[in-house]
Parts: sequence; structure tokens; C-alpha cells
Amino acid sequence: MGIFDDLLTENLSDKQALAKLLSLSEPDRQQALFDKALSVKAATVGRFVYLRGLIELSNVCSKNCYYCGIRAGNPQVERYTLSEEEVLNAAVFAHQNRFGSLVIQTGEQTGPAFAAFIVDILEKIHAITNNELTITLSCGEQPLKVYELWKRAGAERYLLRIETSNKDLYYTIHPRDRHHSFEARLDALKYLREAGYQVGTGVMIGLPGQQADDLAEDLLFFKSMDIDMVGMGPYIEHAATPLFAKRHMLMPASERFNMSLRMIALLRILMPYINIAASTALETINPLGRQMGVLAGANVVMPNLTPVSDRKKYLLYNNKPNLDKDASLSTKSLNAAISAIGETICFDMPGDSIHFQHRTSPEPGNSLS
Ligand code: SAH
Ligand code: SF4
Repeated sequence: MGIFDDLLTENLSDKQALAKLLSLSEPDRQQALFDKALSVKAATVGRFVYLRGLIELSNVCSKNCYYCGIRAGNPQVERYTLSEEEVLNAAVFAHQNRFGSLVIQTGEQTGPAFAAFIVDILEKIHAITNNELTITLSCGEQPLKVYELWKRAGAERYLLRIETSNKDLYYTIHPRDRHHSFEARLDALKYLREAGYQVGTGVMIGLPGQQADDLAEDLLFFKSMDIDMVGMGPYIEHAATPLFAKRHMLMPASERFNMSLRMIALLRILMPYINIAASTALETINPLGRQMGVLAGANVVMPNLTPVSDRKKYLLYNNKPNLDKDASLSTKSLNAAISAIGETICFDMPGDSIHFQHRTSPEPGNSLS
């Protein structure tokens, strides 16, 4: 414990110190890190969990990320786009079950027809739910004008993971071409901030060839980008993807899982007021993954509201959980599971990033009024 306390009081903007903490493997010391993160969480954002109903709107994707099961180059995927009625049903379900918030995620599609389709969906969801749900989009890289258009149509948050902040590593998991440009992804994150969103990003943890140093850099990247929300989780192989060939380079799944929890814990200590999601990928490796993520500092969970018939077509990675579970059942068990660990689900609450509120509201005394 002594050494551990020293480590935590070290300057956490130091990459070496972060990498050292990320490499902690003794159970006691790891637990002490989680406990520290939980106490920071309790003292800042509180021991609350916010829900975002996840709607996987379409698995049509124009990109070919080497890790992802729904990449354009996977001919085995049966492509779908939910009907407007299906989306609205899911939104009404979220509203009736008092989720407070939705995430709409798609493969990457561009062009005016897709932009207009999203606008239409945003407007209809707001109309049918009495403007009582906040909406996060996760629809990939788009021009600034499209981000602005969707913001005006009522999207408030946007999630675009950088995947890894190490450019060389980025090009080992993406084709090196203009459709998968690291700089374009960075630019998109800047556009999102310019357009006024609560900006979320994230990384995959335990990628082939990724070191503790890279993950330490990822944490510093979130800090330097002054990001409002983070969704990150373990990389999980998908057999029908090019990255599967490098599976011999992977850490065991249990270690990718623990590393993900340590990332969450350190991020909560580094950026106490941001929103951090306990990803579905955590639950894929360990059935208790979401709760463990929350106890390591996460404050957002995303129950899946995609109609069960389409869920198995949105397989980013193998063994995705809850493929056949009715959302209402998962929600009940989730509520019980979250209460059991001493946390409170905030129903009917938007759960905005407090970090975002801090950076966008004028300091008291600076007000022009
Ligand atoms: N098309 C959008 C959003 C959908 S993909 C985009 O790429 O931004 C959402 C996230 O799923 C990706 O950002 C990636 O981090 C994650 N993902 C994809 N394949 C994965 C895998 N094999 N293991 C873990 N996460 C994966
Ligand atoms: Fe498409 Fe996103 Fe998967 Fe890349 S990660 S292939 S952009 S859905």
C-alpha cells in the first residue's frame, strides 16, 4: 500500500508513472487503485449511474477497420437499417422506462441522404418523447456542416473513438488510405467540439502490439483534448476480420479486462468530472464486467435497445452478450445489479457531462449579465 500511495501522489501527467500504474498486476494493489478511483468518483460526480439506451440503427458501413466485424469487406454480414417505426419504438421504450437518454450508433455512412435520415430521426424522437430524452450520436466521421446540422436537429453528445492515439499503431489496425486517416479522425474530434457537442472519444485496450506506454499516452490524449466523455473497453477478436491473424500477440482476455478497469480507474482520477461508460465489451469478457467498470469509476451504462432480430447482425466482435435478451428484462436485472453494488441509477436524468458544464458555463463573477 505504501508504494502505491506514493505512486498516486506522483504527478499523473507523467507518462511513466501512468504506465507503471497501468502495469499493476498484484490483486491487492489493483484493488487499491479501484478503491481510490471510487472515492474520487464519490467525491465528484457521486455514486450515480446514468443510462443510455443503445440503438444500433444500421450496420451498413463504408469503412474497413481491421478489427471490426461489420467492416465493409465482410461479405458474411447481412446488412440492415432499422425502420423509422423500429427506432421510434425503441425511443418510446427508453422514455417509458425513464432512461433519460439514448445513443444512436451506426456504421460509417456519408452523404446528404444519410445526413437527412438522421435529422428526421432526431426530430421524430424528440417529438414523440416530448423532448425528454437527450441524444448521443455515434455515426463516425462527418464534415463539420453535418455535425452542425445534427446538433441543430437536437443531438447533444457525440462519441467518436480515436481507437488509439498512437499513429503508428493506428495504421496497424486500419488500412493506410484516405478513408482511414488518423489526421481526419483528429480533425473530426475538433469539428465536434467546434459544433458545440459534449465530445466523447475512447480507445480499444489490449490491441495486438499495444504497450502500457501507449495506453498511458491515450489517457494523456484525453486530458489534452479536454474531452467530456470516454467510452473505452477491451479489444475482442472477431474471426472474420484481418486483425484475427494477430491473435497470437494478444494478452489473455482476462488481462485485457483488468487493464480496461485500470484505465477507467486512472481516468476517473485524472479527469474526475467527465462521463465514463462501462462498455459492453467489458461484459463480453466477464458477466459482471459492467458492475466492475462502475466500481472502478465508470458512471454510464448503455443497455441495448436494438430489436432482438437485428442484434446479431451488429457483431463488432465475437461473443457479444445479451443477443437474445428482451430489453425490459435486461433493464430490470441491471437495476438490481447496480443497486446491489451501492450505486444509484438516475432515472429520467440526462446525465450531462459535468466537465462539459464546467468548460461551457462562465465562471461565477465573469457573467456579463
Ligand atoms: N462506425 C462508428 C461507430 C460504430 S463502431 C465508428 O467507428 O466510430 C463503435 C466502436 O466499436 C468503435 O469505435 C470501436 O472502438 C468498437 N469496436 C469495433 N470493433 C471492435 C472489436 N473487435 N473489439 C472491441 N471494440 C470494437
Ligand atoms: Fe465501420 Fe465503425 Fe466498424 Fe470501422 S469500427 S468498420 S467505421 S462500424
